[in-house]
Amino acid sequence: MHPVRSVLLAASESRWMRTHAANLPVFRKAVRRFMPGEELEDALGAAEVLRQQDGIATIFTRLGENVRDVTEATAVASHYLDACDRIEQRGLDTQISVKPTQLGLDIDPARCRDAVLRLAERAERQHAMLWIDMEQHGYVDATLELYHAVLARHRNVGVCLQAYLYRTAADLQAIVAAGGGVRLVKGAYKEPATVAYPKKPDVDAAYLSLATTMIKAQTAGDGFRAVFGTHDQAIVAAIQAHARAAGVPPGRYEFAMLYGIQHGVQRRLARNGHRVRVLVSYGDHWFPWYMRRLAERPANVWFVARTLFAR
Ligand SMILES: Cc1cc2nc3c(=O)[nH]c(=O)nc-3n(C[C@H](O)[C@H](O)[C@H](O)COP(=O)(O)OP(=O)(O)OC[C@H]3O[C@@H](n4cnc5c(N)ncnc54)[C@H](O)[C@@H]3O)c2cc1C
Repeated sequence: MHPVRSVLLAASESRWMRTHAANLPVFRKAVRRFMPGEELEDALGAAEVLRQQDGIATIFTRLGENVRDVTEATAVASHYLDACDRIEQRGLDTQISVKPTQLGLDIDPARCRDAVLRLAERAERQHAMLWIDMEQHGYVDATLELYHAVLARHRNVGVCLQAYLYRTAADLQAIVAAGGGVRLVKGAYKEPATVAYPKKPDVDAAYLSLATTMIKAQTAGDGFRAVFGTHDQAIVAAIQAHARAAGVPPGRYEFAMLYGIQHGVQRRLARNGHRVRVLVSYGDHWFPWYMRRLAERPANVWFVARTLFAR
């Protein structure tokens, strides 16, 4: 792993950094490149602009993870229920994506499952999908268990799978068989070589192979939803070519990208008739998430440095 990437991912897991560095004006200013603001209202405003200017739909996620307190986890669930109301009032095509550990997976898995069930039910009334993020590898079993439990009651739920994990091909097969939804990503955490491919070319190859399985599942037409969460243009082009060859029209699968990354590509895809969704993050617990964004492209560190020296 690139040494800068390794340092940034270590910083993302440091409580000390989260408490101290997150208050530095340089980070507060630089993070604005990836999030429109800390409030739900900021995300709603960004979603309206994306819809009006580019015809792009959105996904919201309130930043935060590893909540250690039941009251806090309950507040997060209530927040998302309120967010669904506000999305509906504004008539936005916006989905919600939740982190299980933010809904209390570490403290009380049953309570976390109840919260996700309530959110899936709320999303269903809005004819929207509810997405479950994937966190570090130690959470994969519990997250997939949660996902399958919710899928048994609500078909509008999807889960994120990470191409860098060796186990993902088997996890994907199980989900395809159950007829759910998958958002495929490369994976954002610092993982050991015992569980994840350490080299980027291997991750990219795994991503393409998993994407091929997902496109094949689309041809079966059994309700499986395929979402490709990537900014990698070579991979985007390969998926498009593969889908075309398999006779899967662009409207049957979706690309998802992060707010502030490859906006030109997002617009071009939407203009060319592809389904594109942009994940808009907000909230005040942004530090670990921001460090993972820097780690994805160590050149981003220069952007922080420029912010530091800009007048
Ligand atoms: C919608 C969505 C949801 C996600 N959910 C999860 C999740 O639940 N769990 C999880 O582990 N990960 C998640 N991720 C993050 C994902 O795992 C990757 O870390 C991230 O998407 C970068 O990988 P990439 O596929 O874009 O490819 P890369 O090979 O990393 O990047 C390809 C190109 O995209 C551009 N790019 C990528 N990242 C950045 C960046 N931060 N800043 C500037 N340019 C960049 C660069 O030009 C780069 O060359 C999500 C990503 C997306 C888009």
